[in-house]
Amino acid sequence: MMNGYFDFNATTPLSDVARDAWLRASERHWHNPSSLYREAAMAKRKLEEARERLGELLGCEQERIVFTSGATESNNALLARLSDTLDKQKRVLSSSIEHPSVREFLQRQFEDRVTLVKTTPRGELDLDDFTAQLSCGNVGLVTVMAANNECGLLQPWREVEDKCRERGVPFHTDAAQWIGKLPANELGACDYVTGCAHKFGGPKGVGFLMMRTEGEAMSFLRGGPQEEGRRAGTENYPGIEAMVVALEELTPRLAAVAIDQSSMREDFEKNMRAAFPELRIISEGAERLWNTSMFVLPHGDNRKWLARLSQRGFAVSTGSACSAGHDGSSVVLAAHGASADEMRRVIRVSGGWDTAKADWRALAEAFAAVSREMTAVATI
Ligand code: PLP
Repeated sequence: MMNGYFDFNATTPLSDVARDAWLRASERHWHNPSSLYREAAMAKRKLEEARERLGELLGCEQERIVFTSGATESNNALLARLSDTLDKQKRVLSSSIEHPSVREFLQRQFEDRVTLVKTTPRGELDLDDFTAQLSCGNVGLVTVMAANNECGLLQPWREVEDKCRERGVPFHTDAAQWIGKLPANELGACDYVTGCAHKFGGPKGVGFLMMRTEGEAMSFLRGGPQEEGRRAGTENYPGIEAMVVALEELTPRLAAVAIDQSSMREDFEKNMRAAFPELRIISEGAERLWNTSMFVLPHGDNRKWLARLSQRGFAVSTGSACSAGHDGSSVVLAAHGASADEMRRVIRVSGGWDTAKADWRALAEAFAAVSREMTAVATI
């Protein structure tokens, strides 16, 4: 069966194992883990087992994990805490292509104390500039995403983490797009990590923040003792269980999926370039997520492309929905020096773990067919 869904970076369908796990947990362990009877104690035990299993997947002590409602909450909660506790003289280093849940929060809370590290022409963080900025001293936090949601660019977070550790500067990475697509077991080396379930086949409304230390306080949501007093509110055990099961299922498949899907994405980009020789692929040649391709088409408004592709059964994205700056332009494209006109012609496609070669081929054919259709309409 042809599958035209190419917006996995926005969200993914619930995987079969996650759905089964969610139903089982909801039927058997729906009790409030904070209550004091036997069934509640069992729900609490199951919750702690899920935390332990996630800790194994991330390569960190389970006590460092705080469950949240998703990546936005995790990012906001961490930055809110650090803006309260960091010395007011300290600077924050970040990149210009962070998700708005980091970028906008930084702008609001840290204002002119935020320094955006330069990027290379392909969009990666410029490690020389980063090292120079870090060496200036007085840095209280570095936050750099692991993989970009729009163009799929991988940031050199391991090198950044190394340099931060050498200097004892806390390092946070928003790994919402990395986790479930690339191995997560080295992320435990970072001080803070953000993740969310619905990007890798888990349910919506559940995620986590990995903290620097086991006892580190956090109180973004107040009003209850849950999560060791770090995040109030009844725990979503079924959602958490489903998230962990989804990641457990994907983890052993990742190496093979990355090889197969990268070659399908490459084939897709070749076919696109054959149809549109002027195609500009964003971050081409840089290390990217295996599922993502973002490009500027030679003509037509991207919303028109989306509507016509949708009529043909394909779901793609303009990519800018969650990355638009205050003037509506994409900060990721701006970092790539794109003009306002190019920004209106940009499309992001993002496949999934089981997207077939035929699906990628059919998508490229649909782009060519829509182009013919649009050109015919324009010449009538
Ligand atoms: N961070 C990144 C890199 C993302 O791609 C997203 C979602 O697109 C988020 C954060 C926000 O995730 P959520 O909608 O689960 O809060």
